[in-house]
Amino acid sequence: MSPTRPTTPRPTGQPPAKAKAKPKAKKRAKPDPAIAWARRLARYRPRLLEDTLDSLGELYGPQVWRRRLDPTSELILTILTQNSADINAEKAFVALRAAYPSRRAEEIHEPGAGWGGAGLPPGAPPDWIAVENAPLPQLVDVIRPGGLAPQKAPRIQATLRTIREERGDHSLEFLGDLAPLAARDWLTAIPGIGKKTASVLLLFCFNQPLMPVDRHVERVAKRIGLLPAKAPADLAHEQFIAMLADEPERSYETHVLLIHHGRAICQARSPKHDLCPIRGRCRMVDPKAP
Ligand code: SF4
Repeated sequence: MSPTRPTTPRPTGQPPAKAKAKPKAKKRAKPDPAIAWARRLARYRPRLLEDTLDSLGELYGPQVWRRRLDPTSELILTILTQNSADINAEKAFVALRAAYPSRRAEEIHEPGAGWGGAGLPPGAPPDWIAVENAPLPQLVDVIRPGGLAPQKAPRIQATLRTIREERGDHSLEFLGDLAPLAARDWLTAIPGIGKKTASVLLLFCFNQPLMPVDRHVERVAKRIGLLPAKAPADLAHEQFIAMLADEPERSYETHVLLIHHGRAICQARSPKHDLCPIRGRCRMVDPKAP
């Protein structure tokens, strides 16, 4: 029989000692969904974005960034492209120049491979003060060739008014001095300006590492599997930024090559798989593609 352990007598009148509470397990912070996606892709389908860009670069040639317009012109032109073909947005912008001429220097539009129009003819930007203060029905008539004029005319005027009230004039050159996401936040605080429009301006005017995800980019990326099939457009912008975190300088070519591929080969209705250099890695062609 083993000896009984002597117990320390509890002083009379004192409550029994409480059992020590177990330390609560710390809740793990939820990983950022965009970063989590980029990591998953890198792990299970390594070099998918790099290989896509390399193949498309060989097909369409290297894409070199060049500023294509003054930032205010770029913003208004981009608003004109919302839910309209680029070629119609061009017509509306040319009409703005003619109806509200300015004495500023001519701008040369160098739209690059991703643009769906013919490119604007050289011309001075519109007088933005006159556009902001134009009678609304008149402005609607001027930009009617671009489509959706009754929605876009008040949006353009409100945008110009916000910029002037915040900054004292209509220049947006200061955005080039801000960090990319701070610049995007400044723009998206303006009603009617979403991540896509803001990213177009910042990418094309300042080569900021942001990725505008339009319908072509979204379609091609989802077919290949660069984006999850159900990714909402808002999250897709962040997922591309996360995928390009190690090579942010490739943002411009990523946007231009994917949008151009969506127009030239990977069209919505009848994608030409046989002509596509990415077919070996495309999940639309082979759901198990590496
Ligand atoms: S293989 Fe077909 S679906 Fe895939 S990216 Fe090329 S054209 Fe598009």
